[in-house]
Amino acid sequence: MDVKVPDLGGAKGVRVLELLIQPGDRIAKDATMLVVEGDKATMDIPAPEAGVLSSWAIKIGDTIDEGQVVAALDASAPAPASSAPAAAAAILSAAPTVPAAPTVPAAQTAAPAIAASTTGSFSGKADVECDVAVIGAGPGGYTAAFRAADLGQNVVLIERYPTLGGVCLNVGCIPSKALLHAARVIDEAANFAPLGIQFGKPKVDVDALRAHKNTVVNKLTTGLAGMSRARKVNVIQGSAEFVDAFHLQVQSADGVKTVRFKHAIIAVGSQPVKLPGLPWDDKRLMDSTDALDLTDIPKRLLVIGGGIIGLEMACVYDALGSKVTVVELSEQLMPGADLDLVKPLQTRISKHYEAIYLNTKVTTVKAEKTGLRASFEGANAPEPQLYDRILVSVGRTPNGKKLAAERAGVVVSDRGFIAADRQMRTNISHIFAIGDVVGQPMLAHKATHEAKVAAETAAGHASEFVARVIPSVAYTDPEVAWVGLTELEAKKQGIAYQKGAFPYAASGRAIGVNRTEGLSKLLFDPDTHRVIGGGIVGPNAGDLISEVALAIEMGCDASDISLTIHPHPTLSESVAMAAEVFEGTITDLYLPRR
Ligand code: FAD
Repeated sequence: MDVKVPDLGGAKGVRVLELLIQPGDRIAKDATMLVVEGDKATMDIPAPEAGVLSSWAIKIGDTIDEGQVVAALDASAPAPASSAPAAAAAILSAAPTVPAAPTVPAAQTAAPAIAASTTGSFSGKADVECDVAVIGAGPGGYTAAFRAADLGQNVVLIERYPTLGGVCLNVGCIPSKALLHAARVIDEAANFAPLGIQFGKPKVDVDALRAHKNTVVNKLTTGLAGMSRARKVNVIQGSAEFVDAFHLQVQSADGVKTVRFKHAIIAVGSQPVKLPGLPWDDKRLMDSTDALDLTDIPKRLLVIGGGIIGLEMACVYDALGSKVTVVELSEQLMPGADLDLVKPLQTRISKHYEAIYLNTKVTTVKAEKTGLRASFEGANAPEPQLYDRILVSVGRTPNGKKLAAERAGVVVSDRGFIAADRQMRTNISHIFAIGDVVGQPMLAHKATHEAKVAAETAAGHASEFVARVIPSVAYTDPEVAWVGLTELEAKKQGIAYQKGAFPYAASGRAIGVNRTEGLSKLLFDPDTHRVIGGGIVGPNAGDLISEVALAIEMGCDASDISLTIHPHPTLSESVAMAAEVFEGTITDLYLPRR
């Protein structure tokens, strides 16, 4: 049979990101065959029937549309005998699972390609016994380990790298923000020239800046090591794999150690997506980890991917002196964020950067002696260009397939996500999953909240992940932050809302600091006037958005915010004034009577 692209919910010209099976592979009905990327999201395309793949009619990178034939499937090929052994079935049925309330969209977890078909068993003596084994020491893992220890559990924390802190502390949130602070100071100094104060062109000592960034990272990661010791958490350095549903094997420097656990918490995180077909053995081609290494300051830098991480790194390299080009596949930077929040950032960086190409993709990158030559495709695509370095920041992929979770009977999706319920339990009730490996949004503050729920549940406490909203922040210049419902999402889903927005051009503080391009807006339920979403663009938007998150969590309405006295003159006032705009009580702006 021909496999056709199903209804894509209106998305057109989606790009093929991954082909998950090869000709000759058998696939179950509804299991994911391929992953495509539209303007706003990635989508899994399932097999319409069980069968064996005869051939693909497409390749990675192709653009496809609804109704197009993508593969030939032999649905008449005989199915093999059932492979789920009795042990797997026993584990699954023994598990008193919590009613399913997945925290991840079905698309990420729907296809249990690694099913409980190869569960293992261990009958020897374990080297280490514990109540809770935590795999991975990122913000999810170390928070879970510390909380469980504080609740009296005997905890083992297993991390493959020598330092604790995971992506966030070592190669993510913390080093990027240390560099972004330097970028902000450089930009602020430059912005003072029109005000009559000139600092001159900055002299950047890239080695000293890198050393500063490393000092920040070391301070925090050694702090974690100290807190682990204080809490008597047994930290084992090594790579962990499940042996069965109660044992892990850790490949450590002193050999293989077997850990027996009563509960396990999987916190193995994610890693950057490596676009296939690019010359990854060339050091000038970078992922975010390489870019944070700050090896040098390239004269011309191409950033592939205009999402949060790509734009933050673009901001750093631009301030340090690189000529930056950003290329983004979709029609806007930071897909998913409302356009009115992105616009002030786009206007500012359009003046600074060499080029920003939207609706454009990079088709090839060729390594040449003098640089990396990128070719482009799209409405405004330029001729092939030579860059000194290229940063690929097109998303992150979960590490769920790398710890033999199937031996414990834990279901892992084709893409490597592990679904969890509101107590963060996987399908095996004494094994939990938290953080990036569970699903979007891949953010440290989501991981730490999930971690506490998992640790508390494992320690026998009543706990659930019931957060209404998770804020998103881009620490660009200006910062962009949003939480709860966006206007984009409201329109897509047909959700009614009303809006109040306060422009920074009318804020005394914003005028004082010479940053009037910003805006604070709140979205309200038209019936109850409760806050259901909000966004801020401008200096410190990432700090200011917490008030909106709290308002949503507490069920605040417009008057709760407008009647709360905010200090003057601050940018935080703009949130209250957005509520006043909605209510029609604003005096700092003139709005014609409704
Ligand atoms: P991770 O931090 O990925 O940690 C997982 C750990 O598990 C790793 O240390 C890994 O070595 C270990 N591990 C994996 N497999 C095994 C195994 N088999 N055995 C032993 N150990 C294993 N988020 C924000 O909220 N704010 C930001 O400003 C922000 N900025 C970012 C900037 C960049 C450049 C990047 C790349 C990410 C950023 N993030 C940010 C995302 C954030 O870093 C992640 O969401 C967060 O680190 C996820 O935490 P985690 O505990 O799930 O996993």
